[in-house]
Amino acid sequence: MNMFDLTGKVAVVTGGNGGIGLGMARGLAGAGASVVLAGRNAAKGARAATELGGGTVFVKTDVTRKSDCEALVAEAVRRFGRLDILVNNAGTAIRGKPQDYSEAQWHTVLDTNLTSIFLMCQAAYPEMVKAGGGKIINIGSMMSLFGAPFAVPYAASKGGVAQVTKALATAWAGEKIQVNAVLPGWIDTELTQGARADVVGLTESVVARTPAGRWGVPDDLAGIAVFLAAPASDFVTGTAIPCDGGYSVRG
Ligand code: NDP
Repeated sequence: MNMFDLTGKVAVVTGGNGGIGLGMARGLAGAGASVVLAGRNAAKGARAATELGGGTVFVKTDVTRKSDCEALVAEAVRRFGRLDILVNNAGTAIRGKPQDYSEAQWHTVLDTNLTSIFLMCQAAYPEMVKAGGGKIINIGSMMSLFGAPFAVPYAASKGGVAQVTKALATAWAGEKIQVNAVLPGWIDTELTQGARADVVGLTESVVARTPAGRWGVPDDLAGIAVFLAAPASDFVTGTAIPCDGGYSVRG
């Protein structure tokens, strides 16, 4: 048995139309899964689906809306007949001083990064039970571990990702649904290009602190996605695994 084979499995990747989500989707498709990409930008989604090929579809989705989350799962099942893997990757960041955030900005970050995970998991759960088990992969951050002065809502949301992962893992282990988080280090995407423009010296300080000596790229996340989606990780649940070139272990 190939412990990393995803042939016949169906995966939904939120925010799979670009960045880290697309890197993970490439890994899942390469291991044999049918992949459903979700996001708001349909043009990016169409390009990503074409790149992956192999029947990959894009479903326009706003993960802050419960009805969209439910429609996404329904569409995946309509297209491919089942749902085995859910990657909760959609995310956003608003940088600012704690004292300056509006309540709306707080809710935008929490709704996109954390509440969406709960809504997607609720929508996916009945289908995973029907499939006889499932794999849920939640994308946290170094901010699931650390704080940063310019990212209070983001750090709150990503700390929550680690905790919701543990709680769901304990709730659904009996149904053979493993729930894990991945904590990416600093990865070169549209999200961090904004941070690099705003935060003086960030590009260099990340390289200096990262033992691997470089920024990550989205495809660095492909392997851990396959591991956490595959039978290889059937006894792994509730964890939060850094994929960070050693950033989080450097003193
Ligand atoms: P990108 O900005 O490239 O990707 C973010 C993705 O999320 C896009 O595909 C976007 O699609 C989607 N998205 C955002 N809001 C929504 C929404 N309301 N509904 C549906 N989709 C949405 O950033 P990254 O690839 O860097 O980020 C991906 C994840 O990785 C995020 O959770 C981020 O917090 C996390 N992360 C990133 C790190 C990094 O260094 N880059 C480090 C640690 C964690 P669309 O705009 O089409 O909706």
